[in-house]
Amino acid sequence: MSQNGRDDRGPHIKSAEEVAIMREAGRIVARAHEAMREMIQPGVTTAQLDAVAETVIRDHGAIPAFLNYPKKDSPNFPASITASINNELVHGIPSKNRVLQEGDIISLDTGAIYQGFVGDAAYTYPVGDVPPAVQRLLKVTEEALYVGIEASVLPNHTKDVCLAIHRFVAEHGYDVAREYTGHGVGRRMHEEPQVPNWWPSRRMARKMKWVSYPLQVGMTYALEPMVIAGRAETDELDDKWTVVTKDGSLCAHFEHTIAITEGEPVILTLP
Ligand code: MG
Repeated sequence: MSQNGRDDRGPHIKSAEEVAIMREAGRIVARAHEAMREMIQPGVTTAQLDAVAETVIRDHGAIPAFLNYPKKDSPNFPASITASINNELVHGIPSKNRVLQEGDIISLDTGAIYQGFVGDAAYTYPVGDVPPAVQRLLKVTEEALYVGIEASVLPNHTKDVCLAIHRFVAEHGYDVAREYTGHGVGRRMHEEPQVPNWWPSRRMARKMKWVSYPLQVGMTYALEPMVIAGRAETDELDDKWTVVTKDGSLCAHFEHTIAITEGEPVILTLP
């Protein structure tokens, strides 16, 4: 799940033991994704995907991190996954009335709390066959995630990661959502550092109170490029959660939770 808004308490640095617990939380998230991936086909509802993810998470002794997640001026999130179809960017609410159709793309995001720590990951999938242009959007978005992961090494700052993602996406002719960002993950799903998929001018960053932190061993955050094929402007639907592209264009979303080390970062949300 992406962040919209920030706190200013600074990054929370985890011990090796805490990172090990987060790895277990991430593994459970990966299992939930595997179960959903196997189900994706025309005729399946997003409520069915939600139910299977919740079952996997609870069967592993974890708690769905998204269920009842609070948001200012909105009802708490009512499900264990967000399911966002086609022009829906993030935070779509699962429903038994949303049926996958051949040619759709669906972004599935889920999180688990295990022994007090959160894992958070998202993937976008084609439903059946999709045109090459759509396959390219998914490929570039997933690659942008890995560009961000590769940039997550000492002595970079978070801003370097943000700019690397944005540069890669722009080079491929797409743009990123401005309002929703990657974020620190730990005992809470959203904490510092905020890791957007772009970075504003110095003056604007100051005005927006965005802070670029030097990476530190034990820093844990979720990177989540949200890539839009058209104009990078979004609206929120009347359900107060679902974010859609303003111009109706397609969009994709890939996310992993990672931990910073002395060397390569560790992806915590792999199986
Ligand atoms: Mg997230």
